[in-house]
Amino acid sequence: MLEAPFLQAISVTKTYSGAEASGIKNISLDIEPGKITAIIGQSGSGKSTLLRLLYGLMSPDEGTVNFKGERIWGPEEKLIPGHDAMKMVTQHTNDLNLFARVWDNVSAMLPSTNVKLKEEKTEEILTQLNMIQLAKQRVADLSGGEKQRVAIARAIITRPEVLLLDEPFNQVDASFREGLQHDIRQIVKETGLTVVMVSHDPAEVLSMADKLVVLNNGEIVEAGHPKSLYQNPLNLYTAELLTNCNVLNAGEARLCGIQTHKEYVVVYPEWIRINKVLRTSNWRVQQVLFKGFYEDLILENNGVLLRVVNDESGKYNEDDVVSLNIKKWLEY
Ligand code: ADP
Ligand code: MG
Repeated sequence: MLEAPFLQAISVTKTYSGAEASGIKNISLDIEPGKITAIIGQSGSGKSTLLRLLYGLMSPDEGTVNFKGERIWGPEEKLIPGHDAMKMVTQHTNDLNLFARVWDNVSAMLPSTNVKLKEEKTEEILTQLNMIQLAKQRVADLSGGEKQRVAIARAIITRPEVLLLDEPFNQVDASFREGLQHDIRQIVKETGLTVVMVSHDPAEVLSMADKLVVLNNGEIVEAGHPKSLYQNPLNLYTAELLTNCNVLNAGEARLCGIQTHKEYVVVYPEWIRINKVLRTSNWRVQQVLFKGFYEDLILENNGVLLRVVNDESGKYNEDDVVSLNIKKWLEY
């Protein structure tokens, strides 16, 4: 017999009534087990709505969500909303006991029927999430990022099959976020946990996700592997979500030596090579933005601005005249 799909949305629609109808429209999506799926899209595109429908916090108006072949019950049909095999963490998750230690907050999620097992599991999860050294601290004394780690530890320790994350790292500073992303990836690899995450941080989804799903206006506009979506997005919208790219109209593109019949040309900053020239060129370095191990150069030509990545820091100065060599571009 064919195995039922793991977690699946079939033609799911959910409309909120208001001044303008909004929500999600006719979404079909297969979540692959043991992988990280990231849902990305502008604010208001329906990401949280989709996540809540997958979890069963809401019922669809049309269509169904199935987990292993069984329909997920909505809040009207279930005393405690949310599927038992899943856990969800958002930036608003605040079920922590601030005055208890980290250890007790996490271990409290397990039954006390087997105290030894409870201790082992707590130690294991705190180690996996790199916070065994915080075990004895009160949650109230932790940083925002550390608190989010505790929330995630509490969610994972019960071994859910699916972990749903709705922008949980928003309040977490960048350096901290990267460690947490790495640890979650590692847990997915080691335990086969399935993760569905919502994020609007391109660096985060590109490095974490096995699959990206792009939502615009409540609809899926494209989906695929992060690398292929990044290199060849079907939509201008996706390119703009994933990169800080240059978007030029046809006239502006001509200044870069690109002829097009389409409306827009997109050039990523790393697709442009430049050279200092003595002879006249119309491109001039307007700004050098120091980024640490590289620079972003803003070039200017007749009011058109172009962002270029330069990995030879210090080579260019403001007002240098440069020539362009554009290796690749996309047309929309
Ligand atoms: P995202 O998470 O991508 O920012 P949401 O799923 O939260 O988007 O919202 C999608 C759209 O539905 C938005 O236009 C939002 O204003 C609207 N919306 C979300 N929740 C509600 C609600 N409870 N009532 C009315 N409109 C809502
Ligand atoms: Mg949201």
